[in-house]
Amino acid sequence: MLTGQVALVTGASRGIGRAVALDLARHGASVVVNYAGNEAKANEVVDEIKALGSEAIAVKADVANGEEVAELIKTATDAFGKIDILVNNAGITKDNLLMRMKEEEWDAVINTNLKGVFLCTKAVSRLMMRQRYGRIINVASVVGVTGNPGQANYVAAKAGVIGFTKTAAKELAARNITVNAIAPGFIVTDMTDVLSEGIKDDLLKLIPLAKLGAAEDIANAVTFLASEKSGYITGQTLHVDGGMAM
Ligand code: NAD
Repeated sequence: MLTGQVALVTGASRGIGRAVALDLARHGASVVVNYAGNEAKANEVVDEIKALGSEAIAVKADVANGEEVAELIKTATDAFGKIDILVNNAGITKDNLLMRMKEEEWDAVINTNLKGVFLCTKAVSRLMMRQRYGRIINVASVVGVTGNPGQANYVAAKAGVIGFTKTAAKELAARNITVNAIAPGFIVTDMTDVLSEGIKDDLLKLIPLAKLGAAEDIANAVTFLASEKSGYITGQTLHVDGGMAM
């Protein structure tokens, strides 16, 4: 489905990003595995992709840093000549109740989760506009729609990503570039591993399908939005949340 295409996945050394990188590769894409710090884990993902028969490189870059993003895109295009698919997946949490949230906690989450999406999209869409083809998929969150106590920074960033997605979709449509968001519900990864069993049990009660999600559930949706099969879909937010935010 994606043979001959090149994908850049941010924050792809573990969790949802890793599952997305592997699934895109399984469908034939060459993959740029961006990572922030864990080179060994990123190289493991590259090895797994090569074992699937696709090409991959690992590139370190902080998505919130414009110079590092420019270097990331240059390294990617030097290696593969183009980028057809961008998956803005990198994200962090720094949870705190509003009254206790420090300015640094606000800035860190907004910078990675929202500014990072802007920087990567701006840099990659320049290439996609020339190609007159592109698929951009932004990983938002169900809480960007519903709100969530203790996550004002994260929720504001994810709601921002949804609004950004709609605007980018309108601006880039004329160049045959689609921009969509995915809003995962509760997905089992290192990010959610820190939550207590009590919180996980409470969350289960909010999920009509009565199970937590897997990174592969998100990857399946990303691969669809990255493919030519989704060509008439843009500006949308696809909820992959077991029915949580109906
Ligand atoms: P994770 O913590 O396992 O993975 C996040 C990845 O992003 C890590 O590899 C991390 O190194 C990378 N990253 C962090 N800051 C970065 C930066 N500045 N530059 C480059 N990479 C950076 O978390 P995950 O659960 O796999 O989350 C992936 C995405 O899905 C995030 O955007 C997250 O907000 C979103 N999400 C997750 C869930 C969930 O339940 N797990 C739910 C909704 C949305």
